[in-house]
Amino acid sequence: MIKRMASKLHLGQPKHPDSSASSAASSYTSSATSVSILSHEHRASISTQRTSLHEWVKDQAEALQQERPPQSDAVPLEVRRSKGSYRLTDFIIQRTLGTGSFGRVHLVRSKHNLRFYAVKVLNKEKIVRMKQESHTRNEQMMLQAVQHPFIINLWGTFQDTANLYMVMDFVPGGELFTLLRRSNRFPDPVAKFYAAEVALALNYLHSKDIIYRDLKPENILLNFDGHIKIADFGFAKYCSTTAWTLCGTPDYLAPEIIGNARYNKSVDWYALGVLIFEMLSGLPPFHEPDISPVVLYEKIAQGPGAIKWPAFHPNATDLILKFMERDPSKRFGNMQHGAGDVFAHPWFREVDWKKLLNREITAPYLPRIAGDGDASAFERYPEDNAAAQYGASTPDPFGARFPDFEYTST
Ligand code: AMP
Repeated sequence: MIKRMASKLHLGQPKHPDSSASSAASSYTSSATSVSILSHEHRASISTQRTSLHEWVKDQAEALQQERPPQSDAVPLEVRRSKGSYRLTDFIIQRTLGTGSFGRVHLVRSKHNLRFYAVKVLNKEKIVRMKQESHTRNEQMMLQAVQHPFIINLWGTFQDTANLYMVMDFVPGGELFTLLRRSNRFPDPVAKFYAAEVALALNYLHSKDIIYRDLKPENILLNFDGHIKIADFGFAKYCSTTAWTLCGTPDYLAPEIIGNARYNKSVDWYALGVLIFEMLSGLPPFHEPDISPVVLYEKIAQGPGAIKWPAFHPNATDLILKFMERDPSKRFGNMQHGAGDVFAHPWFREVDWKKLLNREITAPYLPRIAGDGDASAFERYPEDNAAAQYGASTPDPFGARFPDFEYTST
């Protein structure tokens, strides 16, 4: 297994405890080619202060601690009300599903209706220390504002003295990342299916002036029926014009983001190009073993000419090139016809978009789920008694910074 040198630009902990991706095969295990495996640890999302590329690389540790002050937190979105009022004692915590920079996501069971949910727990002190308050507030606001078949559903939020809690539907099929690594790569129709569902979700978000900014296989979960649910809205924000904050995941950053320019929603379409490439080849376009962050960013800046192209279907190559266009004004999804160009592209010719949106197309891979609450599609994490700390009475210097998270007594 070849691992790429760990980028020093990671924010916080890697999301996964285990970089191997070798276990059970999926329905789409490809023939045995030796493919270097990208580990989760290389793929943590980043959010940094803006500097020149040179300074950015030189000064990573400090830069990671900083964030440009939010332009505005006033979100002119029609925010759906939280669907309910929840408290920690409504749930029995079963196990950890994943970890992020500020805490964990747990599988929990409601004591009232016995259903399973995922609860994301974010430590307030860590959020404030890493200057991610606005991102956290955005995550809640964006998720409350959206409702789409291919986007995670947020039921409600609350806080106690130490933590913020977000109650979501439990999505049992695991990450697309895991399926892709187990499969090495996806056949063209499989990649097309997932790309098409992502395109519908992005178009929906953009129609609400939400820019997602962290598309990658790790953030695409598979539901029980094999359809996608995009998770982790930590970098999503309302953006009707342009944004500037440097955030995302290195392999997926559009050239204008690393080039210190203002950028718009088209960075999500660029990332979809990277995602299609990664699904079809097993690795992101500019991947090289042990590539340094500087070289990676130089290659991204050079554009698709710096890619070693595998033999994809010509229509797939054409669409990836159109998404990875360096000039955002010429990028697919960002021109006169907007997402219409994407939906009409020949690679998607056979896609019935309406049926797809209605989940009337059978997904190519059905997760094996033994029953409600089966989380075997997720990696195992050391529990470290983390849940025992929740609900404890601690000093609470930061609560007022998260006014939309209701205090509910335990
Ligand atoms: P996040 O910090 O939102 O990226 O979540 C960390 C990890 O927890 C994700 O990569 C998933 O593996 C898992 N996860 C997050 N939300 C859910 C959910 N609603 N259902 C199942 N697993 C989830």
